[in-house]
Amino acid sequence: MYDVVIIGAGVSGAAAARELSKRRLSICVVEREEDVCCGTTKANSAIVHAGFDAQTGTLMAKLNVRGAALMGPLCEDLGVDLKNIGSLVVCTDEEGIPALQALLDRGIANGVERLEIVTGDRLRELEPNLSDDVIAALWAPTASIVNPFQLNWALAENAYQNGVEFRFNTEVTGLERVDGSWKVSTTAGDLSARCVVNAAGVYADVFHNMACEDKFEIVPRRGQYFVLDTTAGRHVRHTVFQQPTKLGKGVLVSPTTAGNLLVGPTAEDIGDKEGTDTTAEGLAELLAKSPLSVKNIPFRETITSFSGLRAHRAEHDFLIAEAPDAPGFVDCAAIESPGLSASPAIGEMVAGIVDGILGAEMRDDFIAKREGIPNVEWATQEEWAALIEQDPSYGRVICRCRKVTEAQIVAAIHHPLGARSLDGIKRRTEACMGRCQAGFCTPKIMEILDRELADLGYDQVTKAGPGSELIVGKDKELEGGDAR
Ligand SMILES: Cc1cc2nc3c(=O)[nH]c(=O)nc-3n(C[C@H](O)[C@H](O)[C@H](O)COP(=O)(O)OP(=O)(O)OC[C@H]3O[C@@H](n4cnc5c(N)ncnc54)[C@H](O)[C@@H]3O)c2cc1C
Repeated sequence: MYDVVIIGAGVSGAAAARELSKRRLSICVVEREEDVCCGTTKANSAIVHAGFDAQTGTLMAKLNVRGAALMGPLCEDLGVDLKNIGSLVVCTDEEGIPALQALLDRGIANGVERLEIVTGDRLRELEPNLSDDVIAALWAPTASIVNPFQLNWALAENAYQNGVEFRFNTEVTGLERVDGSWKVSTTAGDLSARCVVNAAGVYADVFHNMACEDKFEIVPRRGQYFVLDTTAGRHVRHTVFQQPTKLGKGVLVSPTTAGNLLVGPTAEDIGDKEGTDTTAEGLAELLAKSPLSVKNIPFRETITSFSGLRAHRAEHDFLIAEAPDAPGFVDCAAIESPGLSASPAIGEMVAGIVDGILGAEMRDDFIAKREGIPNVEWATQEEWAALIEQDPSYGRVICRCRKVTEAQIVAAIHHPLGARSLDGIKRRTEACMGRCQAGFCTPKIMEILDRELADLGYDQVTKAGPGSELIVGKDKELEGGDAR
């Protein structure tokens, strides 16, 4: 019997787990994938929004502004990359100015500071590569970019350091109220909990509808992106948004904390909760729309494309509450954008609701900080030399594109909640994220995983958990016996 079972180890579940671990509670996070950060949290724009976009008075607006304020100190404590670069919402015709002003007014009403509309030379100085058609922009200096993979992992790792249990490769299949607590059925047996937190991303409607009479539906809203190489990462200095439409924020162009350039997303309502493919139409839309705000985007530097699914609900607001007809069942649902920005505040809010249900005592031995993995790519020669002095394997480069060393990969494996797959290594170190997209470093990383993990053989290494094994057999032993 746990005090709290959290379904889902995305950024919402991890933030809730970390906040709850400040209390004297037994907590278990159940995740169907093999790692943290395998859902929407791994595929988004990675912007810490300033908070002017959400309608005033909504939970989204409140938690965005609160989350953005908490994000800086949190990333500092948890060793997560965050860059306060600011954002611009650009306007290309006079008719758009009132909407820009309305966005500014809404931002002020939401509590966003230092917003202003900029034009002319000042605007071009801020962002030289804006399209020639841009006449004005809403400047939000408090907006930032964050590394979403690090944020999700660091929150989860810190929760783990504070006693939270994590069960991976464990899918929740049922929920039932039994004798005043919850029976949580999973593919690895049943669990019992006094409280259940439903942080299952695009699947949160499934669990809500199992537990409650008042049903709702989450419609996955897909967003596709281009990722350009670090050679294009400085094409813009800030996150450049287009004016919002009723389908969302439009196409943005933004640097990432890893130094790439991101162009996207689309906004397509699809029926498939697993529909994270990219399409020729979606990518063509990005090619057509992005020049409206930024000129000469060097698309030939594109190294990959991806898509993520927003957990969209018709009400277009987060649903974070104990369900009225399901005592102890707490929804953390419909966490679409700006869920990443709001995540520190989402964690706080979920913990506050659980406090009201369980009335737990606070701990005085909470560990608030954790250290990330050193980044060799951005280190100075002196810093790199000092790392090599400390451990010579910092001198052995495994991923040449992103200059990731053996020591970093070993650290990613042996940190708490460490990596067990190629994608796990990728999200923690940026190995495989460069121009060659894992072409050169895959066999070397497989060898390191095999060497460092006693229970994992070379031929059992996966890209992203069971079913994605990289080795299927020896050529001569494969069906047909032909030596290829
Ligand atoms: C295109 C796009 C752009 C975005 N841009 C931004 C942005 O710039 N800034 C911002 O603030 N936000 C942005 N967001 C929103 C942000 O990414 C999400 O709000 C956030 O990542 C949601 O996190 P989550 O933990 O709620 O969901 P997820 O990360 O999806 O986590 C849910 C987890 O639940 C697990 N799960 C599901 N079913 C089960 C089950 N049966 N048993 C066990 N586990 C289960 C999943 O495997 C998953 O790991 C964007 C989203 C998209 C799609």
